[in-house]
Amino acid sequence: MPRSSYSIAVLPGDGIGHEVMAAALEVLCALESRIGRRFVTSPHAAGAQHYADTGVALPEPVLEACRRADAILFGAMGLPHVRDAQGTEVIPQLDIRFALDLYAGVRPIKTWPGLPTPLSDPRAAQIDMVLVRENTEGLFYARGRGVIEGEGENAAAFDTMRISRKGTARVVDFALRLTEQRRARGRPGRLTNVDKANVFRSMAFWREVFVERATHFPQITTEHAYVDAMALNLVLKPWTYDVLVTENMFGDILSDLIASLVGSMGMAPSGDIGDHHGLFQPAHGTAPDIAGRGIANPTAMILSVAMMLEWLGERHADAALLDGASIIESAVHRAFLEQSVRPYDFGGQSGTQAIAEAVVARL
Ligand code: ATP
Repeated sequence: MPRSSYSIAVLPGDGIGHEVMAAALEVLCALESRIGRRFVTSPHAAGAQHYADTGVALPEPVLEACRRADAILFGAMGLPHVRDAQGTEVIPQLDIRFALDLYAGVRPIKTWPGLPTPLSDPRAAQIDMVLVRENTEGLFYARGRGVIEGEGENAAAFDTMRISRKGTARVVDFALRLTEQRRARGRPGRLTNVDKANVFRSMAFWREVFVERATHFPQITTEHAYVDAMALNLVLKPWTYDVLVTENMFGDILSDLIASLVGSMGMAPSGDIGDHHGLFQPAHGTAPDIAGRGIANPTAMILSVAMMLEWLGERHADAALLDGASIIESAVHRAFLEQSVRPYDFGGQSGTQAIAEAVVARL
């Protein structure tokens, strides 16, 4: 049922996470009166700096607040110099994905008129695709479970990939439903399964499950691609793809690749979605090289807010939230089309605040 207000847990995190979150919350706040809804935001401290200060990256009460909220907005977490006992980076976003079972990592990208793309082919203007990354198993299942066997010259490290029938079926179903929704909006309705079924038993199993699930969606055109060929084709002809679905590690790599096709990570939003919770964050990290200078591009975070509104709108059958998502997207579209701002990552001189103001002015 539609409601007048929604609770949002806000985790700015580290580095530019704070800067892009402040910009996105300005946009969300300005939208309230426009759509007649209130967003009760509660900020929470978590991340690599929090780990350095307190020894805990993601306190249990913060996780509990995320569980209770209607949705979660997340900036970015991780700092290169903050390492855990195993010597790896402190990355609480992975813990949240597992804890809240956010199994579908949704990463949409498209070209934005008014901003340059690194591809010279004019068809690059038609890029509009979504990558769906399995978020809770695959090779990332090995995180924290890796082992080293043998010693000295004979030592060898092992990380195990897990592909389960249930885990694969639910993310493939998610991607099939998303492809169907996009088809209803005029997109081709084509889902590309990305795997490495020619080499690994786990990936052959993933493909078997994909093929079985696709039979339940006969209206969707499906195809298969090996991940290596996919990397090539995503650079050569990205405009030919609609929706991609893939294993966790492949998705991690390919989502950075597709973000680069439209010019910058600063334009790549994402949603980590499960059956009960949704977390929305830019696809980029904390960018320590530019943090604290006010020059981070907040667009990916602002578009993640639009994704959150769309998810909440569908979940609560609230058309005002769906309108809010379109209003934000259209404001971003016009801000760049009218060349009112050009972010630093596109060679411009518009800082975080200037971009937020340009979007707010066009809501
Ligand atoms: P992670 O591993 O946490 O995803 P990463 O190592 O991929 O992080 P990022 O923090 O995403 O690295 O940064 C990669 C590059 O992109 C850096 O040069 C950074 O400055 C740039 N970058 C990332 N996000 C933005 C942004 N919003 N605006 C401008 N530049 C950005």
